[in-house]
Amino acid sequence: MSTTDASKRSGDRDRGRFDLTNRLLTQVPADRAGEFWSIGADGDGGIVVSGAEALIAAFGRVREMTRPVLADRRRYAANNRPRGTVRFDPCWLESQRELNTATVLTDSGYIGEGDQEALVAILEQAARAGDNVCAVLPLHISWLADPGVKLLTGEVNQHEVPVALVLEHARDPLGTRYAVSGLKDLLSQTQVPVGLLCTDISGLGAIAHGAMWAAVGVTSALRHLYPADRKGPPFTGVRARHAIVPRLMTFMNVERIAEGWAQVQRRDDVDENMWRCYCVECGNRTMDRFAACTDLSLAAHNISILDDLHQQITSPASWERAISDALGWYHWIQNEYHLTWDPPAFMNAWLPRSRR
Ligand SMILES: [Zn+2]
Repeated sequence: MSTTDASKRSGDRDRGRFDLTNRLLTQVPADRAGEFWSIGADGDGGIVVSGAEALIAAFGRVREMTRPVLADRRRYAANNRPRGTVRFDPCWLESQRELNTATVLTDSGYIGEGDQEALVAILEQAARAGDNVCAVLPLHISWLADPGVKLLTGEVNQHEVPVALVLEHARDPLGTRYAVSGLKDLLSQTQVPVGLLCTDISGLGAIAHGAMWAAVGVTSALRHLYPADRKGPPFTGVRARHAIVPRLMTFMNVERIAEGWAQVQRRDDVDENMWRCYCVECGNRTMDRFAACTDLSLAAHNISILDDLHQQITSPASWERAISDALGWYHWIQNEYHLTWDPPAFMNAWLPRSRR
């Protein structure tokens, strides 16, 4: 289903202040909502406040709601996360209506491998919960493989309720061909709007393939759902920070970016533009600055690059072209800098075999 179709079919349900069609949103933790609130404020995105304190944080900024705001409780990621059969909290849904969020996100529990009962419980509750409700579906990744994806698509269509996917994986949920293929099938065959929460650069691919909206996490922990036994990225003593390298279209650890920059410094015959950023936040500065900049500046860079990509990527063909270009730059840094860095798995997962 095209994005336009999705927006038409969602007409009755979308009575929030803002239409979410073709929106790339930023997902921020509630306890840092104030710090990150200004990010992307000049763009046409929006913000997803996340966690148990999300509504408190959003109510505190209600006067600043000049773009779509959503509240994702992330109950599915909590300690001892409940199963999807758990009942929604009516207060959580009603408070979002009072806040006039762009859509009301359900406070769903988790849908494990093959747990159709949990899937149906969430969709049934969401269908009964009134207008403008979007069923949050935190899914074990097997739901994007056969036969799970057919079952998932069928249940979503049968309940006729918009959904927001949250994909579980220890690294990249959309880093395999089967998962991407399942997502493409789901997006082409669902008759309701589909959004993605807690995603990363692949959110752009999802929108290009018909997703209504996608929310990219401002921190690694909000860029996918970590399995229950791994609550977040491996702990290394220092919180890892990642910046998008525009030409490589990759969230890269700032230490690795510094390594790339150091290579340039050791020679005077190589092009340094790989490590220079022209976004509004960076203003032509070199990317070695990310090792010492504030989290806010880092996030502002990332959102600026994502917004640029979002404007360029308007179809499956332009998404594939962007990936091919990035893979070309990976070859280039191997030849030019002798740095053999593997491209992120999502790139080959999204490309048709003929383009690899
Ligand atoms: Zn930048």
